[in-house]
Amino acid sequence: MQKAFDYKQLYGGKRYHSYNTYLKNKYGERVQKVTVDAGFTCPNRDGTVASGGCIYCNNESFNPGYNDPTKSVRQQIDEGTEFLRRRYKVDKFIVYFQPYSNTYASLDKLKSLYEESLLSKGVIGLTIGTRPDCVDEEKIDYLETLGKSYDITIEYGLESIYDESLKKINRGHDYQSYLDAIDMTKNRGIKICTHIILGFPWENRDQWMQEAEVLSEIEFNFLKIHQLHIVKNTVLARNHLKTPYRLFTLTEYVDTVVSFLEKLNPEIIVQRLAGESPKPMLVAPNWGKRNSEVIKFITNELNKRDTFQGKYYQKL
Ligand code: SF4
Repeated sequence: MQKAFDYKQLYGGKRYHSYNTYLKNKYGERVQKVTVDAGFTCPNRDGTVASGGCIYCNNESFNPGYNDPTKSVRQQIDEGTEFLRRRYKVDKFIVYFQPYSNTYASLDKLKSLYEESLLSKGVIGLTIGTRPDCVDEEKIDYLETLGKSYDITIEYGLESIYDESLKKINRGHDYQSYLDAIDMTKNRGIKICTHIILGFPWENRDQWMQEAEVLSEIEFNFLKIHQLHIVKNTVLARNHLKTPYRLFTLTEYVDTVVSFLEKLNPEIIVQRLAGESPKPMLVAPNWGKRNSEVIKFITNELNKRDTFQGKYYQKL
């Protein structure tokens, strides 16, 4: 067993490098994300890359109530920040362009949407969710300029480092295109977030542990981990109804995430450890737990094992 650093000091008393702690240390106060639906679509749905989209994708499953693409970006943000100000007593916000692929438009359109969103009171930056094959040098140059005045993160959906999985989920890009996007984005004053899904039924524990090791060597700042869940009106849901997939139980997921964290580079800041979809949309697995409860289970398991992010991290 190797204990190479004081994790309590690095993680602000937690057992993993959490995004909230990072933001609090950076800004001295709580910063809240406010989600916006700017009406983008996705090249994996409109036929440019493929049609039908990823087999698990139903963007309605992660749209909060205040998002309505018929409203202007500014109106959505103003309504969202007002709600969050009242609820959490916060004054600083990062606008999260979440649904679909939020760099999939001309540079002029992107400039106008991003700059409109930065006008709202209290907004200090943007997080832009997109696909690795939806960026180019021109867009990254522009984001680099924005990054000189604002906190800019680009979030790349990778989902799996295994090309076989990316094919099975009809992702429409391969692992190399993620690596190319990282190369294009790193060292430009833009923070990078990687989004992955654990639990594809054809992957196994060894592969997830290997994924933690591989990702640990890539130059990005933030990681989001999401359990595979099946939501209504997706190819995955239709397949599951015919022949049920073997999905994580809550105990298995907690155990896998804790082991994954143990292998993860301590410098990677964890933005998310589990996902949640609205109850009426969820098909499986139905753990009957809110996201915050799943995090508690993970925290308890970290305590029980007396372990922490990076405990078994070894530079490859
Ligand atoms: S890339 Fe994102 S928006 Fe596009 S189909 Fe896949 S999950 Fe859906």
